[in-house]
Amino acid sequence: MLLSEFAGNAEVLFELSEVMKKNVLPHALLIEGAKGTGKTTLAGIIAQYCVCSSNEQQPCGHCPDCAKAQKGIHPDILVADGEQTGGLNIESIRNIRSSAYIKPNEARQKVYLLLHCEKMLPAAQNAFLKVLEEPPENVTFVMTAVSATSLLQTIRSRTRIISLYPAAVEEAVGFLESRYPDKERSELEKAAQSSGGNIDLAIELLEGKLEEARGLAVEIMQAIPLSTEYRLLQLLYQAVQNRALAVRVLDALCEVVTECVKASVGGRTNLTEAATIAAKMTQKRLFLLQEKIINARSILNVNVNLNCYGTWLCAELRNQ
Ligand SMILES: [Zn+2]
Repeated sequence: MLLSEFAGNAEVLFELSEVMKKNVLPHALLIEGAKGTGKTTLAGIIAQYCVCSSNEQQPCGHCPDCAKAQKGIHPDILVADGEQTGGLNIESIRNIRSSAYIKPNEARQKVYLLLHCEKMLPAAQNAFLKVLEEPPENVTFVMTAVSATSLLQTIRSRTRIISLYPAAVEEAVGFLESRYPDKERSELEKAAQSSGGNIDLAIELLEGKLEEARGLAVEIMQAIPLSTEYRLLQLLYQAVQNRALAVRVLDALCEVVTECVKASVGGRTNLTEAATIAAKMTQKRLFLLQEKIINARSILNVNVNLNCYGTWLCAELRNQ
């Protein structure tokens, strides 16, 4: 991917492209932003820039170095991932420290991608600080973290911090259109809206198992009027395992409850189970449920604790 294909964050991209044109990239960068805002993707673009061997504007995207970078096999791009066991522990930082002073293999410089630095413990951070204090020549460090504040002030002061935000819905739609040229625009708009411009989440929504979410939503509706709350709680915990799934299930739940309301007033519905579910509840309760579910869906746009959310939602749906 190239900078021009990155979704949203226009100011950051402009600044970075200027830096790249002038060839004045700092030797240490820290990209911060919520999950799904594209930190790793941007780190990858910067790494590609560092190794690109084209005479044109870098990264060109098609020279042999860019190709290797895109495939993740460039010998001068080294990745340490805090999400992997020992990925950013003190030993791995020491390894980086000793290898960073060795010349690059093929490219004009070496790049270290330190991903998920929020997982890096203070001892490892201190070890890394020593490298930053005496930066090796021809080496660029690109770190990513959910928040820059998870790193020591002494590290932060030695890096250029880049903050990423979710793309605006319209920007996200534009990005999704180029990635999914065959999908309907309305489907892409829905995914961009539901994800609040978070590209990873939007992709999960588009590629995710919408059928699975709908099935779970039907089961949830069936469990609401049962005499004990056990089944409902079980299903809701399953639904809130992760944010992408929770969003999908709540979206589906909004649709399913609407179908049940339609069935209860004798309207036509395309959901086979709607009539049976509606028969188990009063019309008044169904209307109330619809209101509660729509409200619960909107709360999910705020960053809620998913476990608390599951318990709260169970009480909300059971309460008549
Ligand atoms: Zn290139």
